[in-house]
Amino acid sequence: MNAKNSKSVAVVGAGVLGRLVALRLAESGWRVTLIDRDSERGEKSCSWTGAGMLSPYCEREAAEKIITDIGLDSLDRWPGVLKSLARPVFYREAGSLVVSHPGDRDEMERLRRRVLDRNLRPDAMREIRTDEIRELEPEIADKFSHGLYFPYERHIDNRDLLAGLLETLRQRGVECIFNAEVQSLEKSRLKISNDWKTFDWVVDCRGNGAAAELKDLRGVRGELFYLHAPEVNLNRPTRLMHPRYSIYIVPRADHIYVLGATMIESDDMSPISVRSSLELLSAAYSVHTGFAEARVLESSVNCRPAFPDNHPRFYVAPGLLRINGLFRHGFLISPTLAEFAVAYLDRGEKLPMSEKFWRDA
Ligand SMILES: Cc1cc2nc3c(=O)[nH]c(=O)nc-3n(C[C@H](O)[C@H](O)[C@H](O)COP(=O)(O)OP(=O)(O)OC[C@H]3O[C@@H](n4cnc5c(N)ncnc54)[C@H](O)[C@@H]3O)c2cc1C
Repeated sequence: MNAKNSKSVAVVGAGVLGRLVALRLAESGWRVTLIDRDSERGEKSCSWTGAGMLSPYCEREAAEKIITDIGLDSLDRWPGVLKSLARPVFYREAGSLVVSHPGDRDEMERLRRRVLDRNLRPDAMREIRTDEIRELEPEIADKFSHGLYFPYERHIDNRDLLAGLLETLRQRGVECIFNAEVQSLEKSRLKISNDWKTFDWVVDCRGNGAAAELKDLRGVRGELFYLHAPEVNLNRPTRLMHPRYSIYIVPRADHIYVLGATMIESDDMSPISVRSSLELLSAAYSVHTGFAEARVLESSVNCRPAFPDNHPRFYVAPGLLRINGLFRHGFLISPTLAEFAVAYLDRGEKLPMSEKFWRDA
């Protein structure tokens, strides 16, 4: 433990952000308590649903430059984060592939131009043809004459990560309290089981759970499937561009694939709709016919916490820091956001890259 401070901090919300913030604060010498109203698996969190793609380039499809920059910074941090965990979690540095059916080539071209706009490293994206697609993903090469390959993108198993982070937090002596709703949260104190508890700092990472206090926070519904497809061998996240939706297929261990995701302006948390199911499943089948015999293990629905500009925000007052609005990039950007949070709590420093996100609480 770092002797420079032994101040206490409560991190409320144990999604990917809360767990990473708690870890970095513990590493920096804080006495950390992590609290969540959900069970320790976090099945109701947005992070339980998130597909775990770490794809700053492909996300140019929907994200502004600042998210790309933070995403690239985070991408460099992920290996260090993983090294600090108590056990390995499923993580692959296999790049990502983008394809489109012939009639939808404009969508892929639009993404290509948006990535080029950003002036990223020249080898960040490669236009490829069938032969190269075959080298990367032999089972789908015959269907696609053109593709885009992003060699530096990565993916992580979100659920394995949540569990691995928790194990690490416990090993580091972080007090982890689950199944405990925080009823109220203020500067340096919070109410739990009708009892006020005080800390030097409270860090609010409640995602959509903070919507009552953060008035312009909204939920953006996302639906996805977990499929078991023994006939499918894909090595990396594969995106299919389409004018109305873009779908992705993200491999996990043992022929399990995450197939997602819709993006609907609604905070409706009800089960997946028939329309979304038809679109996602038929798109997956159009990429690889082996999905016909896949088994649907699960559908998962949650709402991405987002502000109107879809950028994250830090709200700060003495003793209180709120971080929210990670939208569709929570896994991509959390390591860097956690770094911003620690710099602020340790030294009162707003790191230059984060400055535009800060507001008074
Ligand atoms: C379909 C889908 C696919 C996605 N795919 C990706 C992807 O591939 N890559 C990527 O980077 N991002 C992806 N995302 C986005 C990512 O999942 C989110 O940005 C991220 O999970 C948000 O994390 P969070 O920790 O802020 O919130 P959450 O994960 O929602 O965590 C908030 C926690 O706060 C707790 N909480 C709330 N209120 C209280 C209270 N009063 N007391 C105690 N605890 C409370 C909740 O129980 C919850 O555990 C996806 C999202 C969706 C929906």
